[in-house]
Amino acid sequence: MSDLTRFTAAEIAAALADGSVTSVEVTRRHLDRIAAVEGDVRAFLHVDRHGALATAADVDRRRAAGEPLPELAGVPVAVKDVLTTVDLPTTCGSKMLEGWISPYDATVVSKLKAAGMPILGKTNMDEFAMGSSTEHSAYGPTRNPWDTTRIPGGSGGGSAAAVAAFEAPLAVGTDTGGSIRQPGAVTGTVGVKPTYGGVSRYGLVAMASSLDQAGPVARTVLDAALLHEVMGGHDPRDSTSLDMPVPPVVEAARRGDVSGLRIGVISELGGEGFQPGVRRCFEEGLEMLARAGAEIVEVSCPSFVHGIAAYYLVMPSEVSSNLAKFDAMRYGLRVAPEGVDDPSAEQVMAASRDAGFGDEVKRRIILGTYALSSGYYDAYYGSAQKVRTLIARDFEAAFEQVDVLASPTSPTVAWPLGEKLDDPLSMYAQDVATIPANLAGVPGISVPVGLSEGLPVGFQFLAPAMADDRLYNAGAALERLVTERDGRPFAAQAPELEVTR
Ligand code: GLN
Repeated sequence: MSDLTRFTAAEIAAALADGSVTSVEVTRRHLDRIAAVEGDVRAFLHVDRHGALATAADVDRRRAAGEPLPELAGVPVAVKDVLTTVDLPTTCGSKMLEGWISPYDATVVSKLKAAGMPILGKTNMDEFAMGSSTEHSAYGPTRNPWDTTRIPGGSGGGSAAAVAAFEAPLAVGTDTGGSIRQPGAVTGTVGVKPTYGGVSRYGLVAMASSLDQAGPVARTVLDAALLHEVMGGHDPRDSTSLDMPVPPVVEAARRGDVSGLRIGVISELGGEGFQPGVRRCFEEGLEMLARAGAEIVEVSCPSFVHGIAAYYLVMPSEVSSNLAKFDAMRYGLRVAPEGVDDPSAEQVMAASRDAGFGDEVKRRIILGTYALSSGYYDAYYGSAQKVRTLIARDFEAAFEQVDVLASPTSPTVAWPLGEKLDDPLSMYAQDVATIPANLAGVPGISVPVGLSEGLPVGFQFLAPAMADDRLYNAGAALERLVTERDGRPFAAQAPELEVTR
């Protein structure tokens, strides 16, 4: 195996450490791969050839000088365009921020830089992370590398597709209701939403602050753990950051032992609305885990059925407040209202927000503003917060019985581009299995478990807050079982992409 883009991050790190390759070589190979397949995939909004190679050269020089380096030094990474960067634009997939350059790096980005990881570029996403297909990006959709007529999931479809298409060994995503895990499921990649507060949100352009969390995207569970370790940890600049050490995720990913592990299958997730092929793959995963010594029990989480309803009140409420800052006064797009001489600030604001935001963003701002309006606040936002508490209690009760919970990550495989674009509710329904974790703040992982109609299916594990290591242990076990069954790593089964350059 000589194609460096096929190496896992752990393999690249080992090859860099033993001197068999340089970071410049590895980084250049990935940049070439990006140039070759981007015409088809369109995972990136900005590619930073110069910056990535400069970091790579610097790491190579430091390594040659015998400097001790972090484990992932020299391993390239892609970053979702919702995390701020001083040397590249941050658009959040929106016209509102076209060309905007942040005056500061997100903490996650600073950590990648401190770890010596060349940043290949910024990845495409649904506008302000609102969507499940990346079709709501103002810059056009990303395509699923398994079938380029289909969606790569969302909102982090760019990060998932970049990793699935071997354009990057690793990527950073963000997950407010499933945006790391669902793209992971439909592109056959591993995606983790860490415990809320486990990874700093400083410099993560907020969608819904009480739900947003950045996490790793990779092709293997171990690679995700290695990146998680780099990204995680306390940050005094984020008041919701947990002042606790990163859970031992790498050790857990190397262990991958489910013997005696109690796995609770969530009865409410996996029935109606889940495609038969998805259910079949999930059940096969459970059978393999049982044969490997896990104890599988059924667990009921009755409030989960209200998860989508609660999320689509809490999230838009926070969106309406967070996106109020795009007022055309401080930064971002400014549009003069047509036919108005000497427009007022309010008129400029209205014209700019009308031109700068897409339909889905406007829909959510309107929904959230309504839910928070006096007279409706208790009926909508207040009730949703109560449901949120009930969901957290369901998790608590479940984790008294089991070590981890399990469900399919997403009810369907990747659908054809355009299919759900005019039907927001059916798009929202895609998040049924991922949303409860965000509402309760607990961590979740999606691991590829099999194929249905030739398309990847994801298996989700959920764990108690700050027990992220349990996800990696269970995920690594499942990954090994899937690899043994298939006779090759899951990612190796993806069809070859057409090279367009
Ligand atoms: N698909 C969900 C939504 O549209 C989740 C988005 C996310 O996690 N950023 O809100």
